Amino acid sequence: MSVSHLTKQFSALDVNAKKANQPSGPTRPIGHIKTPSQSSVGKLLAKYAAPNPPATKPAAPKTAGAESSQAASRPGPKTIDIGKYDGGLELENEKRGEKVTGEAAEDLALDSSVARKSPTREWNLTTFDIGRPLGKGKFGRVYMVRTKCEPRYILALKTLYKSEIVQARVEKQIRREIEIQQNLRHPHVLRLYGYFHDEKRIFLMLEFAGKGELYKQLSKHGSFSERRSSRYIDQMADALAYLHSKHVIHRDIKPENLLLGINGELKIADFGWSVHAPGNRRMTLCGTLDYLPPEMVEGKEHNERVDLWALGVLTYEFLVGSPPFEDRSSTQATYRRIAKVDLKVPSHVSPEARDLITKLLKYDPQQRLLLSEVRTHPWIVKYRPKDVSRGSG
Ligand code: AMP
Repeated sequence: MSVSHLTKQFSALDVNAKKANQPSGPTRPIGHIKTPSQSSVGKLLAKYAAPNPPATKPAAPKTAGAESSQAASRPGPKTIDIGKYDGGLELENEKRGEKVTGEAAEDLALDSSVARKSPTREWNLTTFDIGRPLGKGKFGRVYMVRTKCEPRYILALKTLYKSEIVQARVEKQIRREIEIQQNLRHPHVLRLYGYFHDEKRIFLMLEFAGKGELYKQLSKHGSFSERRSSRYIDQMADALAYLHSKHVIHRDIKPENLLLGINGELKIADFGWSVHAPGNRRMTLCGTLDYLPPEMVEGKEHNERVDLWALGVLTYEFLVGSPPFEDRSSTQATYRRIAKVDLKVPSHVSPEARDLITKLLKYDPQQRLLLSEVRTHPWIVKYRPKDVSRGSG
């Protein structure tokens, strides 16, 4: 399936944003990816953005769907401090990256407008006040930013250097990642509100994950309690059910790809390996070794049930502090353990959690517990707060 076909399908899925935000006038891209106009920044974010969290902690989202959770985090009475900008974007831009031309530039312009080699005009760096650095990624820095226009939403702005993307030969992958993520709306899937680019960089306007990386929390604590693990797995199952309903297979579930929202809620954040695969059986080997299911280790066809396996590995890692098939002696040894489902669950893990793990870590993908069954599993139901209805995580 071509990228444009895929994008068109996603455009069809995009229920609300398009008509209200189609820019008009000569700068409007003709392509099928609609980039909102500068003037509609506020409108778009008011509708979809979770950002600028209230000074006082809002109630946890009650029902499923991005809109409901976002209503819980509308701007509060006090302006949130976005921290001090260190000038890093300009400094970095002087030293890093080169202009990209030709086919790669077209791929990375991410739309099919006639002027796709030129920078996008609807959004740019002057749209935002830039705050503190949030982190450094492989292809550039991430900053906390706020829109200058009311109601001054807070976002994470991620830079990607085009020439480095081209050097790493991942332009198609990045493009796919952006196209997929931009069309997803779920409280436990990190929102990508939009993007813009200049000659050297792509800027992604991401939902701000106020509590940062889940992986850091896991490293800090060693492992999580049964309650905390169960809550995260419930939210993961909810998010994965949503992704699968859109025919998106994530394929790279692991703690490093999960962020935490302002209320500590989980957000799936990285779609680098995901595929939009309606009715498709995929055979590419990708993802992280420890989370690979037997069918991928053995180079067989795979489907969305790879994410169920990964959910089992994640449950184990949350509770134990390391993944179940890890073997530091060699990659081959880990592969062998995965293919044999050589699983040993430590005795401190409760019988209910053990039951869920063993039912997800089945060699035969068809035998794995379904996401709907994960969400009604006793270990999940036991820790779900009364005010969180099924379907909301
Ligand atoms: P990445 O390039 O996605 O690996 O991002 C680099 C670092 O920036 C991450 O490890 C996070 O600490 C931080 N970061 C990335 N995206 C966000 C976000 N949406 N909200 C808050 N922090 C982020």
